[in-house]
Amino acid sequence: MFALKRFQSCRFKFIPKIIATQIHSHSVLLKYTNEDHLKLNIKGNDLKFPFVWLRDNCQCDQCFHRTAKSRILDWTKFDINIKPANVAQGENSLQVTWSDGHKSSYEFDWLKFRSFTPENQKTYKDTIFRPKRITWHGDDFENIFSKHYYNDIVKSEEALYNWLHQLSIYGVALIQNTPASETAVDKIVDKIGFTKRTHYGIKFIVQHVANTSNVAYLSSNLQMHTDLPYYEYCPGVNLLHCLVQTASRGGENLLVDCHYVANYMKENHPDEYKILTDTEVEWNDIGEEDGNEFYKLNRSPVISLDKHGEITKINFSVAQRSSNLPAPYESVIPWYKSYALFHNLGRKFAAKYKTQDGDILVFDNRRLLHSRSAYEDNSNNVRKLIGAYVDWDEIYSRLRCLTVKLKYVDGIFQSNHRG
Ligand SMILES: [Zn+2]
Repeated sequence: MFALKRFQSCRFKFIPKIIATQIHSHSVLLKYTNEDHLKLNIKGNDLKFPFVWLRDNCQCDQCFHRTAKSRILDWTKFDINIKPANVAQGENSLQVTWSDGHKSSYEFDWLKFRSFTPENQKTYKDTIFRPKRITWHGDDFENIFSKHYYNDIVKSEEALYNWLHQLSIYGVALIQNTPASETAVDKIVDKIGFTKRTHYGIKFIVQHVANTSNVAYLSSNLQMHTDLPYYEYCPGVNLLHCLVQTASRGGENLLVDCHYVANYMKENHPDEYKILTDTEVEWNDIGEEDGNEFYKLNRSPVISLDKHGEITKINFSVAQRSSNLPAPYESVIPWYKSYALFHNLGRKFAAKYKTQDGDILVFDNRRLLHSRSAYEDNSNNVRKLIGAYVDWDEIYSRLRCLTVKLKYVDGIFQSNHRG
């Protein structure tokens, strides 16, 4: 059976004892402390917690505001070298009395959920921070393209969660049986939060318009692109409600998972991949909409990476790429070769889908390319889509709220802070 190592045997001399009578659980074992951290075994995991982190994250009412769920301890008086005077453990929690007399209590589930091991950090990342993405190419599309009913999403939090979860993993998901109304998409947006407004409005209508302010409003072939690459805060997700699909041939979408394309390039064409991650490109949109002039410029590579080398954003557009390429002369032609390769691979790995009346095609605008083939309206049949953008900040936020509400993950809050 487990046995407690006595504090006398550890190197840390400021902790005089453990209150042995409070120990009921064999699943958690306080092993020892040293000068700057506490070592615990929680459910078979050896975990280390720095004293400064424990004190900083005290969950008592003086240090953490229950309803604001925010730290309120006074950092002007905070001692980063603080040490415990006493440590004890109960059945489900750890009690620490600090050298200044302050008392803290930490539930083991709560601690484990925040521990610094790579495994626990990964669990937290995949369950709360962001669901892990899974890449796909066109041949996989039928299997990864999940379909959800409009009424289910409006009425059920489980259905809402499932839809958003699939969307976050694969970057695309479909809503079906949407009422034939220009405001139907609003109810879906309301379940998440709110739209991202652009100079095309809170929502936009995709319909053939002569002398248009945007090439999307033509009925000709719309080449593969991400929307709004000329915005630094480029919207996260595109919702396209198909009110009326064209009865003619065409009007189909191509959808490309650029994370798949980028990974493929990284492996098979590393030089071209590097050029697309390094070279800044200028994206633009210049014109007038509803009497308001705009002149949008943004500079960003085709593939933006974070410090871990993970893709944060794809920018790609033939139409909205500025002729001012802010690159040294000698990198222009290599960049074009890399861009052409990305474009061709995108076409190679694309999936084809034609939305039907009542569909809302929802996709990650920072990850997928989309295109639309040319179509021909007639007087009885006018293709009409209602579009809206929602940011990933709002979607991930809703997913996390639902994860808590539906109790999909333990240890997010201490139990006395729930509800
Ligand atoms: Zn406290």
